Amino acid sequence: MDRYSRQARVAGIGEEGMRRIRGSRVLIVGCGALGTHAADTLTRAGVGALDLVDRDIIEWSNLQRQVLFDERDAEGGAPKAVAAVERLRKVNRDVELTAHVADCSRAFLDDQAELPDLVLDGTDNFPTRYLLNDWCRQRRIPWIYAGAVGTEGASMVVRPDGACLRCLWPEAPAQAEVGSCETHGVLGPTIAAVTAFQAAEAIKLLVGETGTTGVFTCDVWRGRYQVLPLADQPSPDCVGCVEGLHPALAQRPVEAVTLCGRDAVQIQPDDSAPPDLAELAAHLHGTVEDLEQTPHVLRFRVEEVRFTLFPGGRALLFGLSDPLRARALYDRWLR
Ligand SMILES: [Zn+2]
Repeated sequence: MDRYSRQARVAGIGEEGMRRIRGSRVLIVGCGALGTHAADTLTRAGVGALDLVDRDIIEWSNLQRQVLFDERDAEGGAPKAVAAVERLRKVNRDVELTAHVADCSRAFLDDQAELPDLVLDGTDNFPTRYLLNDWCRQRRIPWIYAGAVGTEGASMVVRPDGACLRCLWPEAPAQAEVGSCETHGVLGPTIAAVTAFQAAEAIKLLVGETGTTGVFTCDVWRGRYQVLPLADQPSPDCVGCVEGLHPALAQRPVEAVTLCGRDAVQIQPDDSAPPDLAELAAHLHGTVEDLEQTPHVLRFRVEEVRFTLFPGGRALLFGLSDPLRARALYDRWLR
């Protein structure tokens, strides 16, 4: 236990807190910037078991902020979850680490042999966050939302008996409204600031504290860090908290099919919210190549993949054949 002596000495943790941390299981969804920061902290903190799920591979543009990866990972295009776990095994052999190269779908969550004590959001898209919200709500598992774009970030503890993500925002915002790291960039310290809040709250929950009520927001460029007050109780208008409905659990997952004989994948999303092609085109302008909008399709090229998007949301991605990677790119650029 010498390894954890400084942590055990912190007021609020102690030997009993350390015992609880060692006995806990945490699921981190997404091994990008947020996920790698949080996974590094929790592995060093000595959680009992850590499950990492991510469907994507490592690219050069990730190295600026995704702290568990190095140049060799980017050269080899290794799956993020696998490379993260390999790195973390060298950090702390006490932790039971598992890599899942998969979509975080409802089926994936339902298939977990052991339920986590806590779920951390390291995703880059709102459909997955609403799925986490509804799944954790139904199972009464706490989770911690986190997001970062540019120099701004936010995080919030969602306890089974407190306000949930739907209490704040009943529906997931369109990615084009909130921006993404692809279109707005992201500064490394933004991630560090957001995951400092998220990982500290995680450790507090694991030792039995209630966690901070409110929404942490920061703008590291302007030097602003605050916790916006939030009602301790769920919103009386929330369909999840009040009516017990979990809409994201009923949603049909995005289908991705490799087209036979072609280096291409077709994506067929749930068609409940078809994209506005003109809005998307305006949003993508300046960040993608060969952007072209016709009355029938939106076309562009990014990361050596050519996208063709149809009005109902169906898309063809040319230049790759891995459906997981195609879904990751679709969510990143078109959701
Ligand atoms: Zn709610």
